[in-house]
Amino acid sequence: MSANNTRIRRIIADILYDSGPLTKEGVAKQLGSIKTIRAIPSPHSLASLLCKNIQIVSVGSAIVESAVGTKSKHLLYDINRKLIKSKDDLILTRSPTIMTPAEKRKSEKCKCGKIRVLPPKEEICLHCIRKE
Ligand SMILES: [Zn+2]
Repeated sequence: MSANNTRIRRIIADILYDSGPLTKEGVAKQLGSIKTIRAIPSPHSLASLLCKNIQIVSVGSAIVESAVGTKSKHLLYDINRKLIKSKDDLILTRSPTIMTPAEKRKSEKCKCGKIRVLPPKEEICLHCIRKE
């Protein structure tokens, strides 16, 4: 995965944390307002970035009307709020593929097999603590 996509995956989680449920078009719109992002992923790759992130869940669908008036059902995505309750939890639930280099150095293998930055003073990861 490119460095740009890794960064976009982290930004997508931040966007959903702040905004609540969005369709992939909604996520693309928010990404478009961030000036430091050079290339916004296509709707197809955005869908795969959303599905592959364990921090993100689908929470139903919304009816979206296109410019020409056709209506279609679009999935709504949100942060997994049972698992992630604060901004700090976003870092603690990142998989190694989306960690920053500094987070990678701090990360450890939990007894469940996941590699995560563990919460302060804990020996298990947030997934185990919250039993997702
Ligand atoms: Zn664990």
